[in-house]
Amino acid sequence: MIPYSTQEINKNDIKAVVRVLQSKWLTQGPTVVSFENAVAKKVGAKYAVAFNSGTAALHGAYYAAGVVADDEVIVPALTFAATSNAVLYQGATPVFADSNLLDGNMSVVEVTKKITKKTKVVVVVDYAGRPADLDLFCKLAKKNKLTLIEDAAQALGAEYDGKLVGTQADMTMFSFHPVKSITTGEGGIIVTNNLYFAEKMRLFRNHGISRNKENFVRNNFGDWYQEMQELGFNYRMTEMSAALGESQLKRLSSFIARRSKAATLYQKLLANIPHIILPPKDQVGVKSAWHLFPVRLVHSIAHKRDDVFKKMRDLGIGVQVHHLPVYLHLFYEKLGYKKGLCPNVEKFVASEISIPLFPSITIKEQKFIVDSLRSIINLI
Ligand SMILES: *Cc1c(COP(=O)(O)O)cnc(C)c1O
Repeated sequence: MIPYSTQEINKNDIKAVVRVLQSKWLTQGPTVVSFENAVAKKVGAKYAVAFNSGTAALHGAYYAAGVVADDEVIVPALTFAATSNAVLYQGATPVFADSNLLDGNMSVVEVTKKITKKTKVVVVVDYAGRPADLDLFCKLAKKNKLTLIEDAAQALGAEYDGKLVGTQADMTMFSFHPVKSITTGEGGIIVTNNLYFAEKMRLFRNHGISRNKENFVRNNFGDWYQEMQELGFNYRMTEMSAALGESQLKRLSSFIARRSKAATLYQKLLANIPHIILPPKDQVGVKSAWHLFPVRLVHSIAHKRDDVFKKMRDLGIGVQVHHLPVYLHLFYEKLGYKKGLCPNVEKFVASEISIPLFPSITIKEQKFIVDSLRSIINLI
């Protein structure tokens, strides 16, 4: 099966992990710090706080933004469930906003309609690795005194206004799951220019326990004392993960360049197949990280999507659908969210198929995928 995405590990990655395994520190050592510094530097942010998953990182960001029970957090309906699940972890309410049909990204107009007195945070997702309209979201957040968090899990290496994403929002999350731009096995990070947020997240990922004596509220204990000031979690990244991440980060530009080249080839090969809608091409200033290549079937054949999907899978092509609108997950239905909430997203997803895209995909594989798709569509 050709997977829809996969990691690429080389000898240097393996060496870096082995080096850590032979060192003194497997966790809470110098490698996490040095990986954080490398990511911060890469995207031009002041601070980076690593976590043991992108989901934990989002939880940390929501915590730092002060999200608590009764707050509302606006999230896109077209995203992986984690974006919204972490809102529920804080006891707050996810409010889903609809997308535009062009690239699937959340619509600023729809978000504006959802702002209430209870809204505290807006979370914007870069669907498929293509940056959302970050300028507009920044303006909207500022005007309404909301914290803007960018879930760029799929978009490390993407560019907006000619700059890597990571410093536009108040906090930006990258995931290091094996299907994403670079991997640490499991892992995630928040980058920010805000010291208060960074410190809150450092506390949060370590049980809420501070080791910094200068910040202690109580001081009548011995040197062994560490102060648990808040209720946090154990969300720490291991040194092995950080070593893998630091080694992978060196190849980020190459990974993105190869994903982008493969996407350009798809654009060319798929251009003359009728009945399909292609994702928008990169434009000046806006460059996708090409996490996914989401193809859509036009309205007249959209009802055949599952048929096309099955036939592609039968040929050994690991197509996928990204993503079930979050509020249509069983658990969310039980919470009371109903079909029809975000019509564009429902329409988008019902006609969507992601075809394989990863740095090491070959031209031969891409041609096979396109030829298969062409013959399947011709026959339905
Ligand atoms: C992958 C992903 C996450 C979760 O990241 P993990 O590292 O797997 O926890 C969150 N949001 C989006 C949009 C994602 O694609």
